[in-house]
Amino acid sequence: MAGSDILSPAKPRWLLAELTYRCPLQCPYCSNPVDYTRHTDELDTDDWLGVLTDARALGAVQLGFSGGEPLVRRDLAVLVRHARQLGYYSNLITSGYGMTEAKVAELKEAGLDHIQISIQSPEKLLNDQLAGTESFEHKQKVARLVKKYGYPMVLCVVIHRQNIHQMQAILEMAMELNADYLELANTQYYGWAHLNRDQLLPSRRQLKEAEAMAQSYKERLKGTMKIYYVVPDLYEDRPKACMNGWGTTFLTIAPDGVALPCHAARELPGLDFPNVRDTSIEDIWLHSKAFNKFRGFNWMKEPCRSCPEKVKDFGGCRCQAYLYTGDMSQADPVCSLSPHHDKITQVIDAASALSGRATSKPLVFRNPKNSRAFRPS
Ligand code: SF4
Ligand code: SF4
Repeated sequence: MAGSDILSPAKPRWLLAELTYRCPLQCPYCSNPVDYTRHTDELDTDDWLGVLTDARALGAVQLGFSGGEPLVRRDLAVLVRHARQLGYYSNLITSGYGMTEAKVAELKEAGLDHIQISIQSPEKLLNDQLAGTESFEHKQKVARLVKKYGYPMVLCVVIHRQNIHQMQAILEMAMELNADYLELANTQYYGWAHLNRDQLLPSRRQLKEAEAMAQSYKERLKGTMKIYYVVPDLYEDRPKACMNGWGTTFLTIAPDGVALPCHAARELPGLDFPNVRDTSIEDIWLHSKAFNKFRGFNWMKEPCRSCPEKVKDFGGCRCQAYLYTGDMSQADPVCSLSPHHDKITQVIDAASALSGRATSKPLVFRNPKNSRAFRPS
């Protein structure tokens, strides 16, 4: 095994099947790679059936179908049925765009366990501007359909400077839709979101106000709706335990078959991630250089190497280390012990200096053909 001090890696428990990078929407915080149009050679149905079988044999039990927009894959119900036969707990992560009642019924019959729908804003104009499609009413309709077919209503709203002032309206919308779960997912600043960071990162004051609002609804709605408020880690002084440690729990398969320890890792240079078209999933997980690169602690530099907290956070996020220091083996600069922490404080200070006002930079959308003139607010 290359480079790692872990002799027997834990088996993956989560499989994220990114079925496609295609999507009719254009979110400026999309987690797909910024060069996603270079990777158009999607795995076919048989390839995906094999991926599901092999990952399950290796130990995966939770399965997310995501993208892009997974609904654009015509074989989605076939894959869902196979997942059910294998005993996965399956979750569809969708914008809802393109979902019909017949499709919900088909997926239910095939054995899908869970559907998560994302809405960009509780206001039609902003939702449609950010999505680049007239999708607001349709998403609401899909949310109701999901309930009608006996699924828990799981709503996800990605939070950023453009919609954070709408926190109360977001919470009211979730109540109106009878959501069982509301995920208020502060943007994670990789890929497209990193590109648009100055236009998307809220100020500390905005975050505090939004969190207080979410907290008050959380108390009020105890027992009826579960609210998860995901804090943006740039504002913390310790990093998140990214992916529960590299190559310990999560396995992502990208649309073209590239295997990744995290869906954002594709943008790390020089790691030569293996492809399921050439190598078995077991071999990739256990023996590939890329999956072993940041397992264990031997790869760490100071201050992580001698830090007692490394067992809790594994040195944080490799993508964040690379984006801010140019070296993916550094401590995540979110950590106040990192010698590069000033790079994060500069970003936060710049966001707070704006104090909720607009930047002069326009947002960069992932499908420019859909974009209308949109000025950040
Ligand atoms: S974040 Fe938006 S653009 Fe990206 S895949 Fe999801 S819905 Fe599509
Ligand atoms: S120095 Fe490294 S291991 Fe210690 S808290 Fe910071 S990121 Fe975590």
